[in-house]
Amino acid sequence: MYLADEAWPDLADYFAEESLAIVPLGSTEQHGPHLPESTDHVIAEGLAREAAERTGYLCTPTVKIGVSPHHRQFPGTMWVDAPAFRNYVESFTRNLAYHGIDRVVYVNAHGGNVQHLREVGRRLYDDEVAFAVEWMWDESIPDLVNDLFTHNGPHGGPKETAMVQYLRPELVHDDRLAEARDGGLVDVSAAGTHTFGARTFYDALDNSGNGVFGDQTDATAEKGERLFEAATEQLVALCEWLADRDDEELVPKSHV
Ligand SMILES: [Zn+2]
Repeated sequence: MYLADEAWPDLADYFAEESLAIVPLGSTEQHGPHLPESTDHVIAEGLAREAAERTGYLCTPTVKIGVSPHHRQFPGTMWVDAPAFRNYVESFTRNLAYHGIDRVVYVNAHGGNVQHLREVGRRLYDDEVAFAVEWMWDESIPDLVNDLFTHNGPHGGPKETAMVQYLRPELVHDDRLAEARDGGLVDVSAAGTHTFGARTFYDALDNSGNGVFGDQTDATAEKGERLFEAATEQLVALCEWLADRDDEELVPKSHV
């Protein structure tokens, strides 16, 4: 069920029966010379809508601009400051709670959003408004990601390339995959990103000349389909688990 396509009486019926919402969030930021800037929100929306289709749970519209200042040097990257993002997500989640939602899955496909979504989840939990969890698609299937790719790259690498080849093939420049690999950083572990235990960089450009990591020539739409299916299974299971929890499991325990 997709919230924006429904009329209010049908949504009233949903809220009378269910109290879970799926919220996709991504970014609009550079993903190298071969992928669209929509990459993260295409992936998040694809997974969220599919899980909603399979389970009958409610999916909201997608948040398409996230916390991406670390990609600012590349043309077209859009971002909002972290406090604005946190307040915005908290605000519309409180709005969902007003309608009866008390459990939320933030379906996330952008690493820069992770810590902020967890902070919002913390605020909503402390105030006993809702139990909202952040879910990052690739972290739900780490073994499969490692099995499929030698250098999967944290950003714009073959795992994201394969997902967009599967979901929106017309947006991928397949003739630029070798260029993406050769102009970026293939092996992130060799980059010297940490110094005496500290992470000593802020921007993607500090480590990669074209903004991406990993070996993009390793990506295919078939691998993308396997990633999509495996991640969707995890997301469906998470939604069903969360919906099955008793209310008292989802609020803070009393002071000892
Ligand atoms: Zn991405």
